[in-house]
Amino acid sequence: MLAEIRSLNEECGIFGIWGHANATQLTYYGLHALQHRGQEGAGIVSTDKNYLKALKGEGMVSEVFTPEKIDAIAGTGAIGHVRYATAGGSGIENVQPLLFNSTTGSLAISHNGNLVNANSLKSHLERQGSIFQTTSDTEVLAHLIKRSGYATFEEQAKNALSLLKGAFACLILKEEAMYVALDPNGLRPLSLGKLGDAWVVASETCAFDIIGAEFVRSVEPGEFLVITDEGLRAERFAYPQERSICTMEYVYFSRPDSDIDGINVHAARKRLGKQLAKEIQIDADVVTGVPDSSISAAIGFSEESGIPYELGLIKNRYVGRTFIQPSQDLREQGVKMKLSPVRQVVKGKRVIMVDDSIVRGTTSRRIVKLLKEAGATEVHVVISSPPIKSPCFYGIDISTSGELIAANNTIEEMREIIGADSLTFLSVDGMVQNIGRTDPGSSCGHCLGCFTGEYPTHIYPDTVLPHEKEKVK
Ligand code: SF4
Repeated sequence: MLAEIRSLNEECGIFGIWGHANATQLTYYGLHALQHRGQEGAGIVSTDKNYLKALKGEGMVSEVFTPEKIDAIAGTGAIGHVRYATAGGSGIENVQPLLFNSTTGSLAISHNGNLVNANSLKSHLERQGSIFQTTSDTEVLAHLIKRSGYATFEEQAKNALSLLKGAFACLILKEEAMYVALDPNGLRPLSLGKLGDAWVVASETCAFDIIGAEFVRSVEPGEFLVITDEGLRAERFAYPQERSICTMEYVYFSRPDSDIDGINVHAARKRLGKQLAKEIQIDADVVTGVPDSSISAAIGFSEESGIPYELGLIKNRYVGRTFIQPSQDLREQGVKMKLSPVRQVVKGKRVIMVDDSIVRGTTSRRIVKLLKEAGATEVHVVISSPPIKSPCFYGIDISTSGELIAANNTIEEMREIIGADSLTFLSVDGMVQNIGRTDPGSSCGHCLGCFTGEYPTHIYPDTVLPHEKEKVK
């Protein structure tokens, strides 16, 4: 059962481009920029207006693609995907984009996010005769499109999208068009850009920078964009609901050089660090951040507190992110491999160690130990987000409360477990106010589900493990 729930959780990146002679190569570069969002598989489907051609494999972008392979699927429109999946959902058959062929034409889908009604939709479709070839939620969308009774593809796609609940940023490629859709709450980020006459779409704006594309705007919740050689047409498949973008995109997931809805991620993290320093007083000699995602918050903390920032930890760049390793054993090993303390910086010092979040506690415990073994006299852990107490149902690998240290321990117990001299978290209000969103008609513009247990969408019974039910408000 655990494996089943875990398989629903994935964090991915998507990229698409329409109307460029080098669409496939540019998609490769775009996926490189999004590599931090998923390292277990990558794929590109391109079109030359006649056929859809797919290339995908397990592993990093640089492992899956070669110049020769990219040339073999050259096209003027392409969509791509980088994938992270837990054990239950691994395997080449789940690597996206998923490509479907039929007598009425082909279609490919890249999807970032997680549907909360995938299981009930699957059961319904199976009763009608559908047979699923993958364990990916994304296949549900293809079956819904093909079973829709509407006359045109656009109507079929819009009808199918309106039946999905949860988080989905989707790209659909056909021979003659690229389609873009974002769930009605806008749970996952999705940006629209231009490169000359070509339209570009990506999970993060850092993918635009790498190919020299200009940001145009964010894709709106409930929006359905139709991009053809005639240009872009903006339609809707659903009315927008209260905007609820994933807070963890700002706190941890996105690259610091990306902007989400006009807010630079580095600047937001710096403000979170400053706010932390306003919320607590600690006597210490040096502030350091856990690389890479906590460096911005550590700089902010240092600026506000007046305690000097130092490079106390070095990251081995050739090891993947601990948070997205597939098993507990590998996570333990991963921490040892990826970080080293800078002895000259921490020896004999009272160190404030800024980190962006604590999920299972394994990483924090190991880093505190590393710093103390390197001679730090005190290690004060400050976290630039509130305690994560509840699972995520929208595509982030925070799978069950049982794995979350904050769901099962007081802050003092957590401090003891990780071996720190003190442990402090940012307040929910401090986080929301300092990310800096100003969404009209919205209470805060964020999903706060994993922090507060209050989710922006209905959570369907088949999404929740029995022992999790009482924790989901
Ligand atoms: S529950 Fe947490 S991780 Fe999941 S979408 Fe909401 S804020 Fe993001």
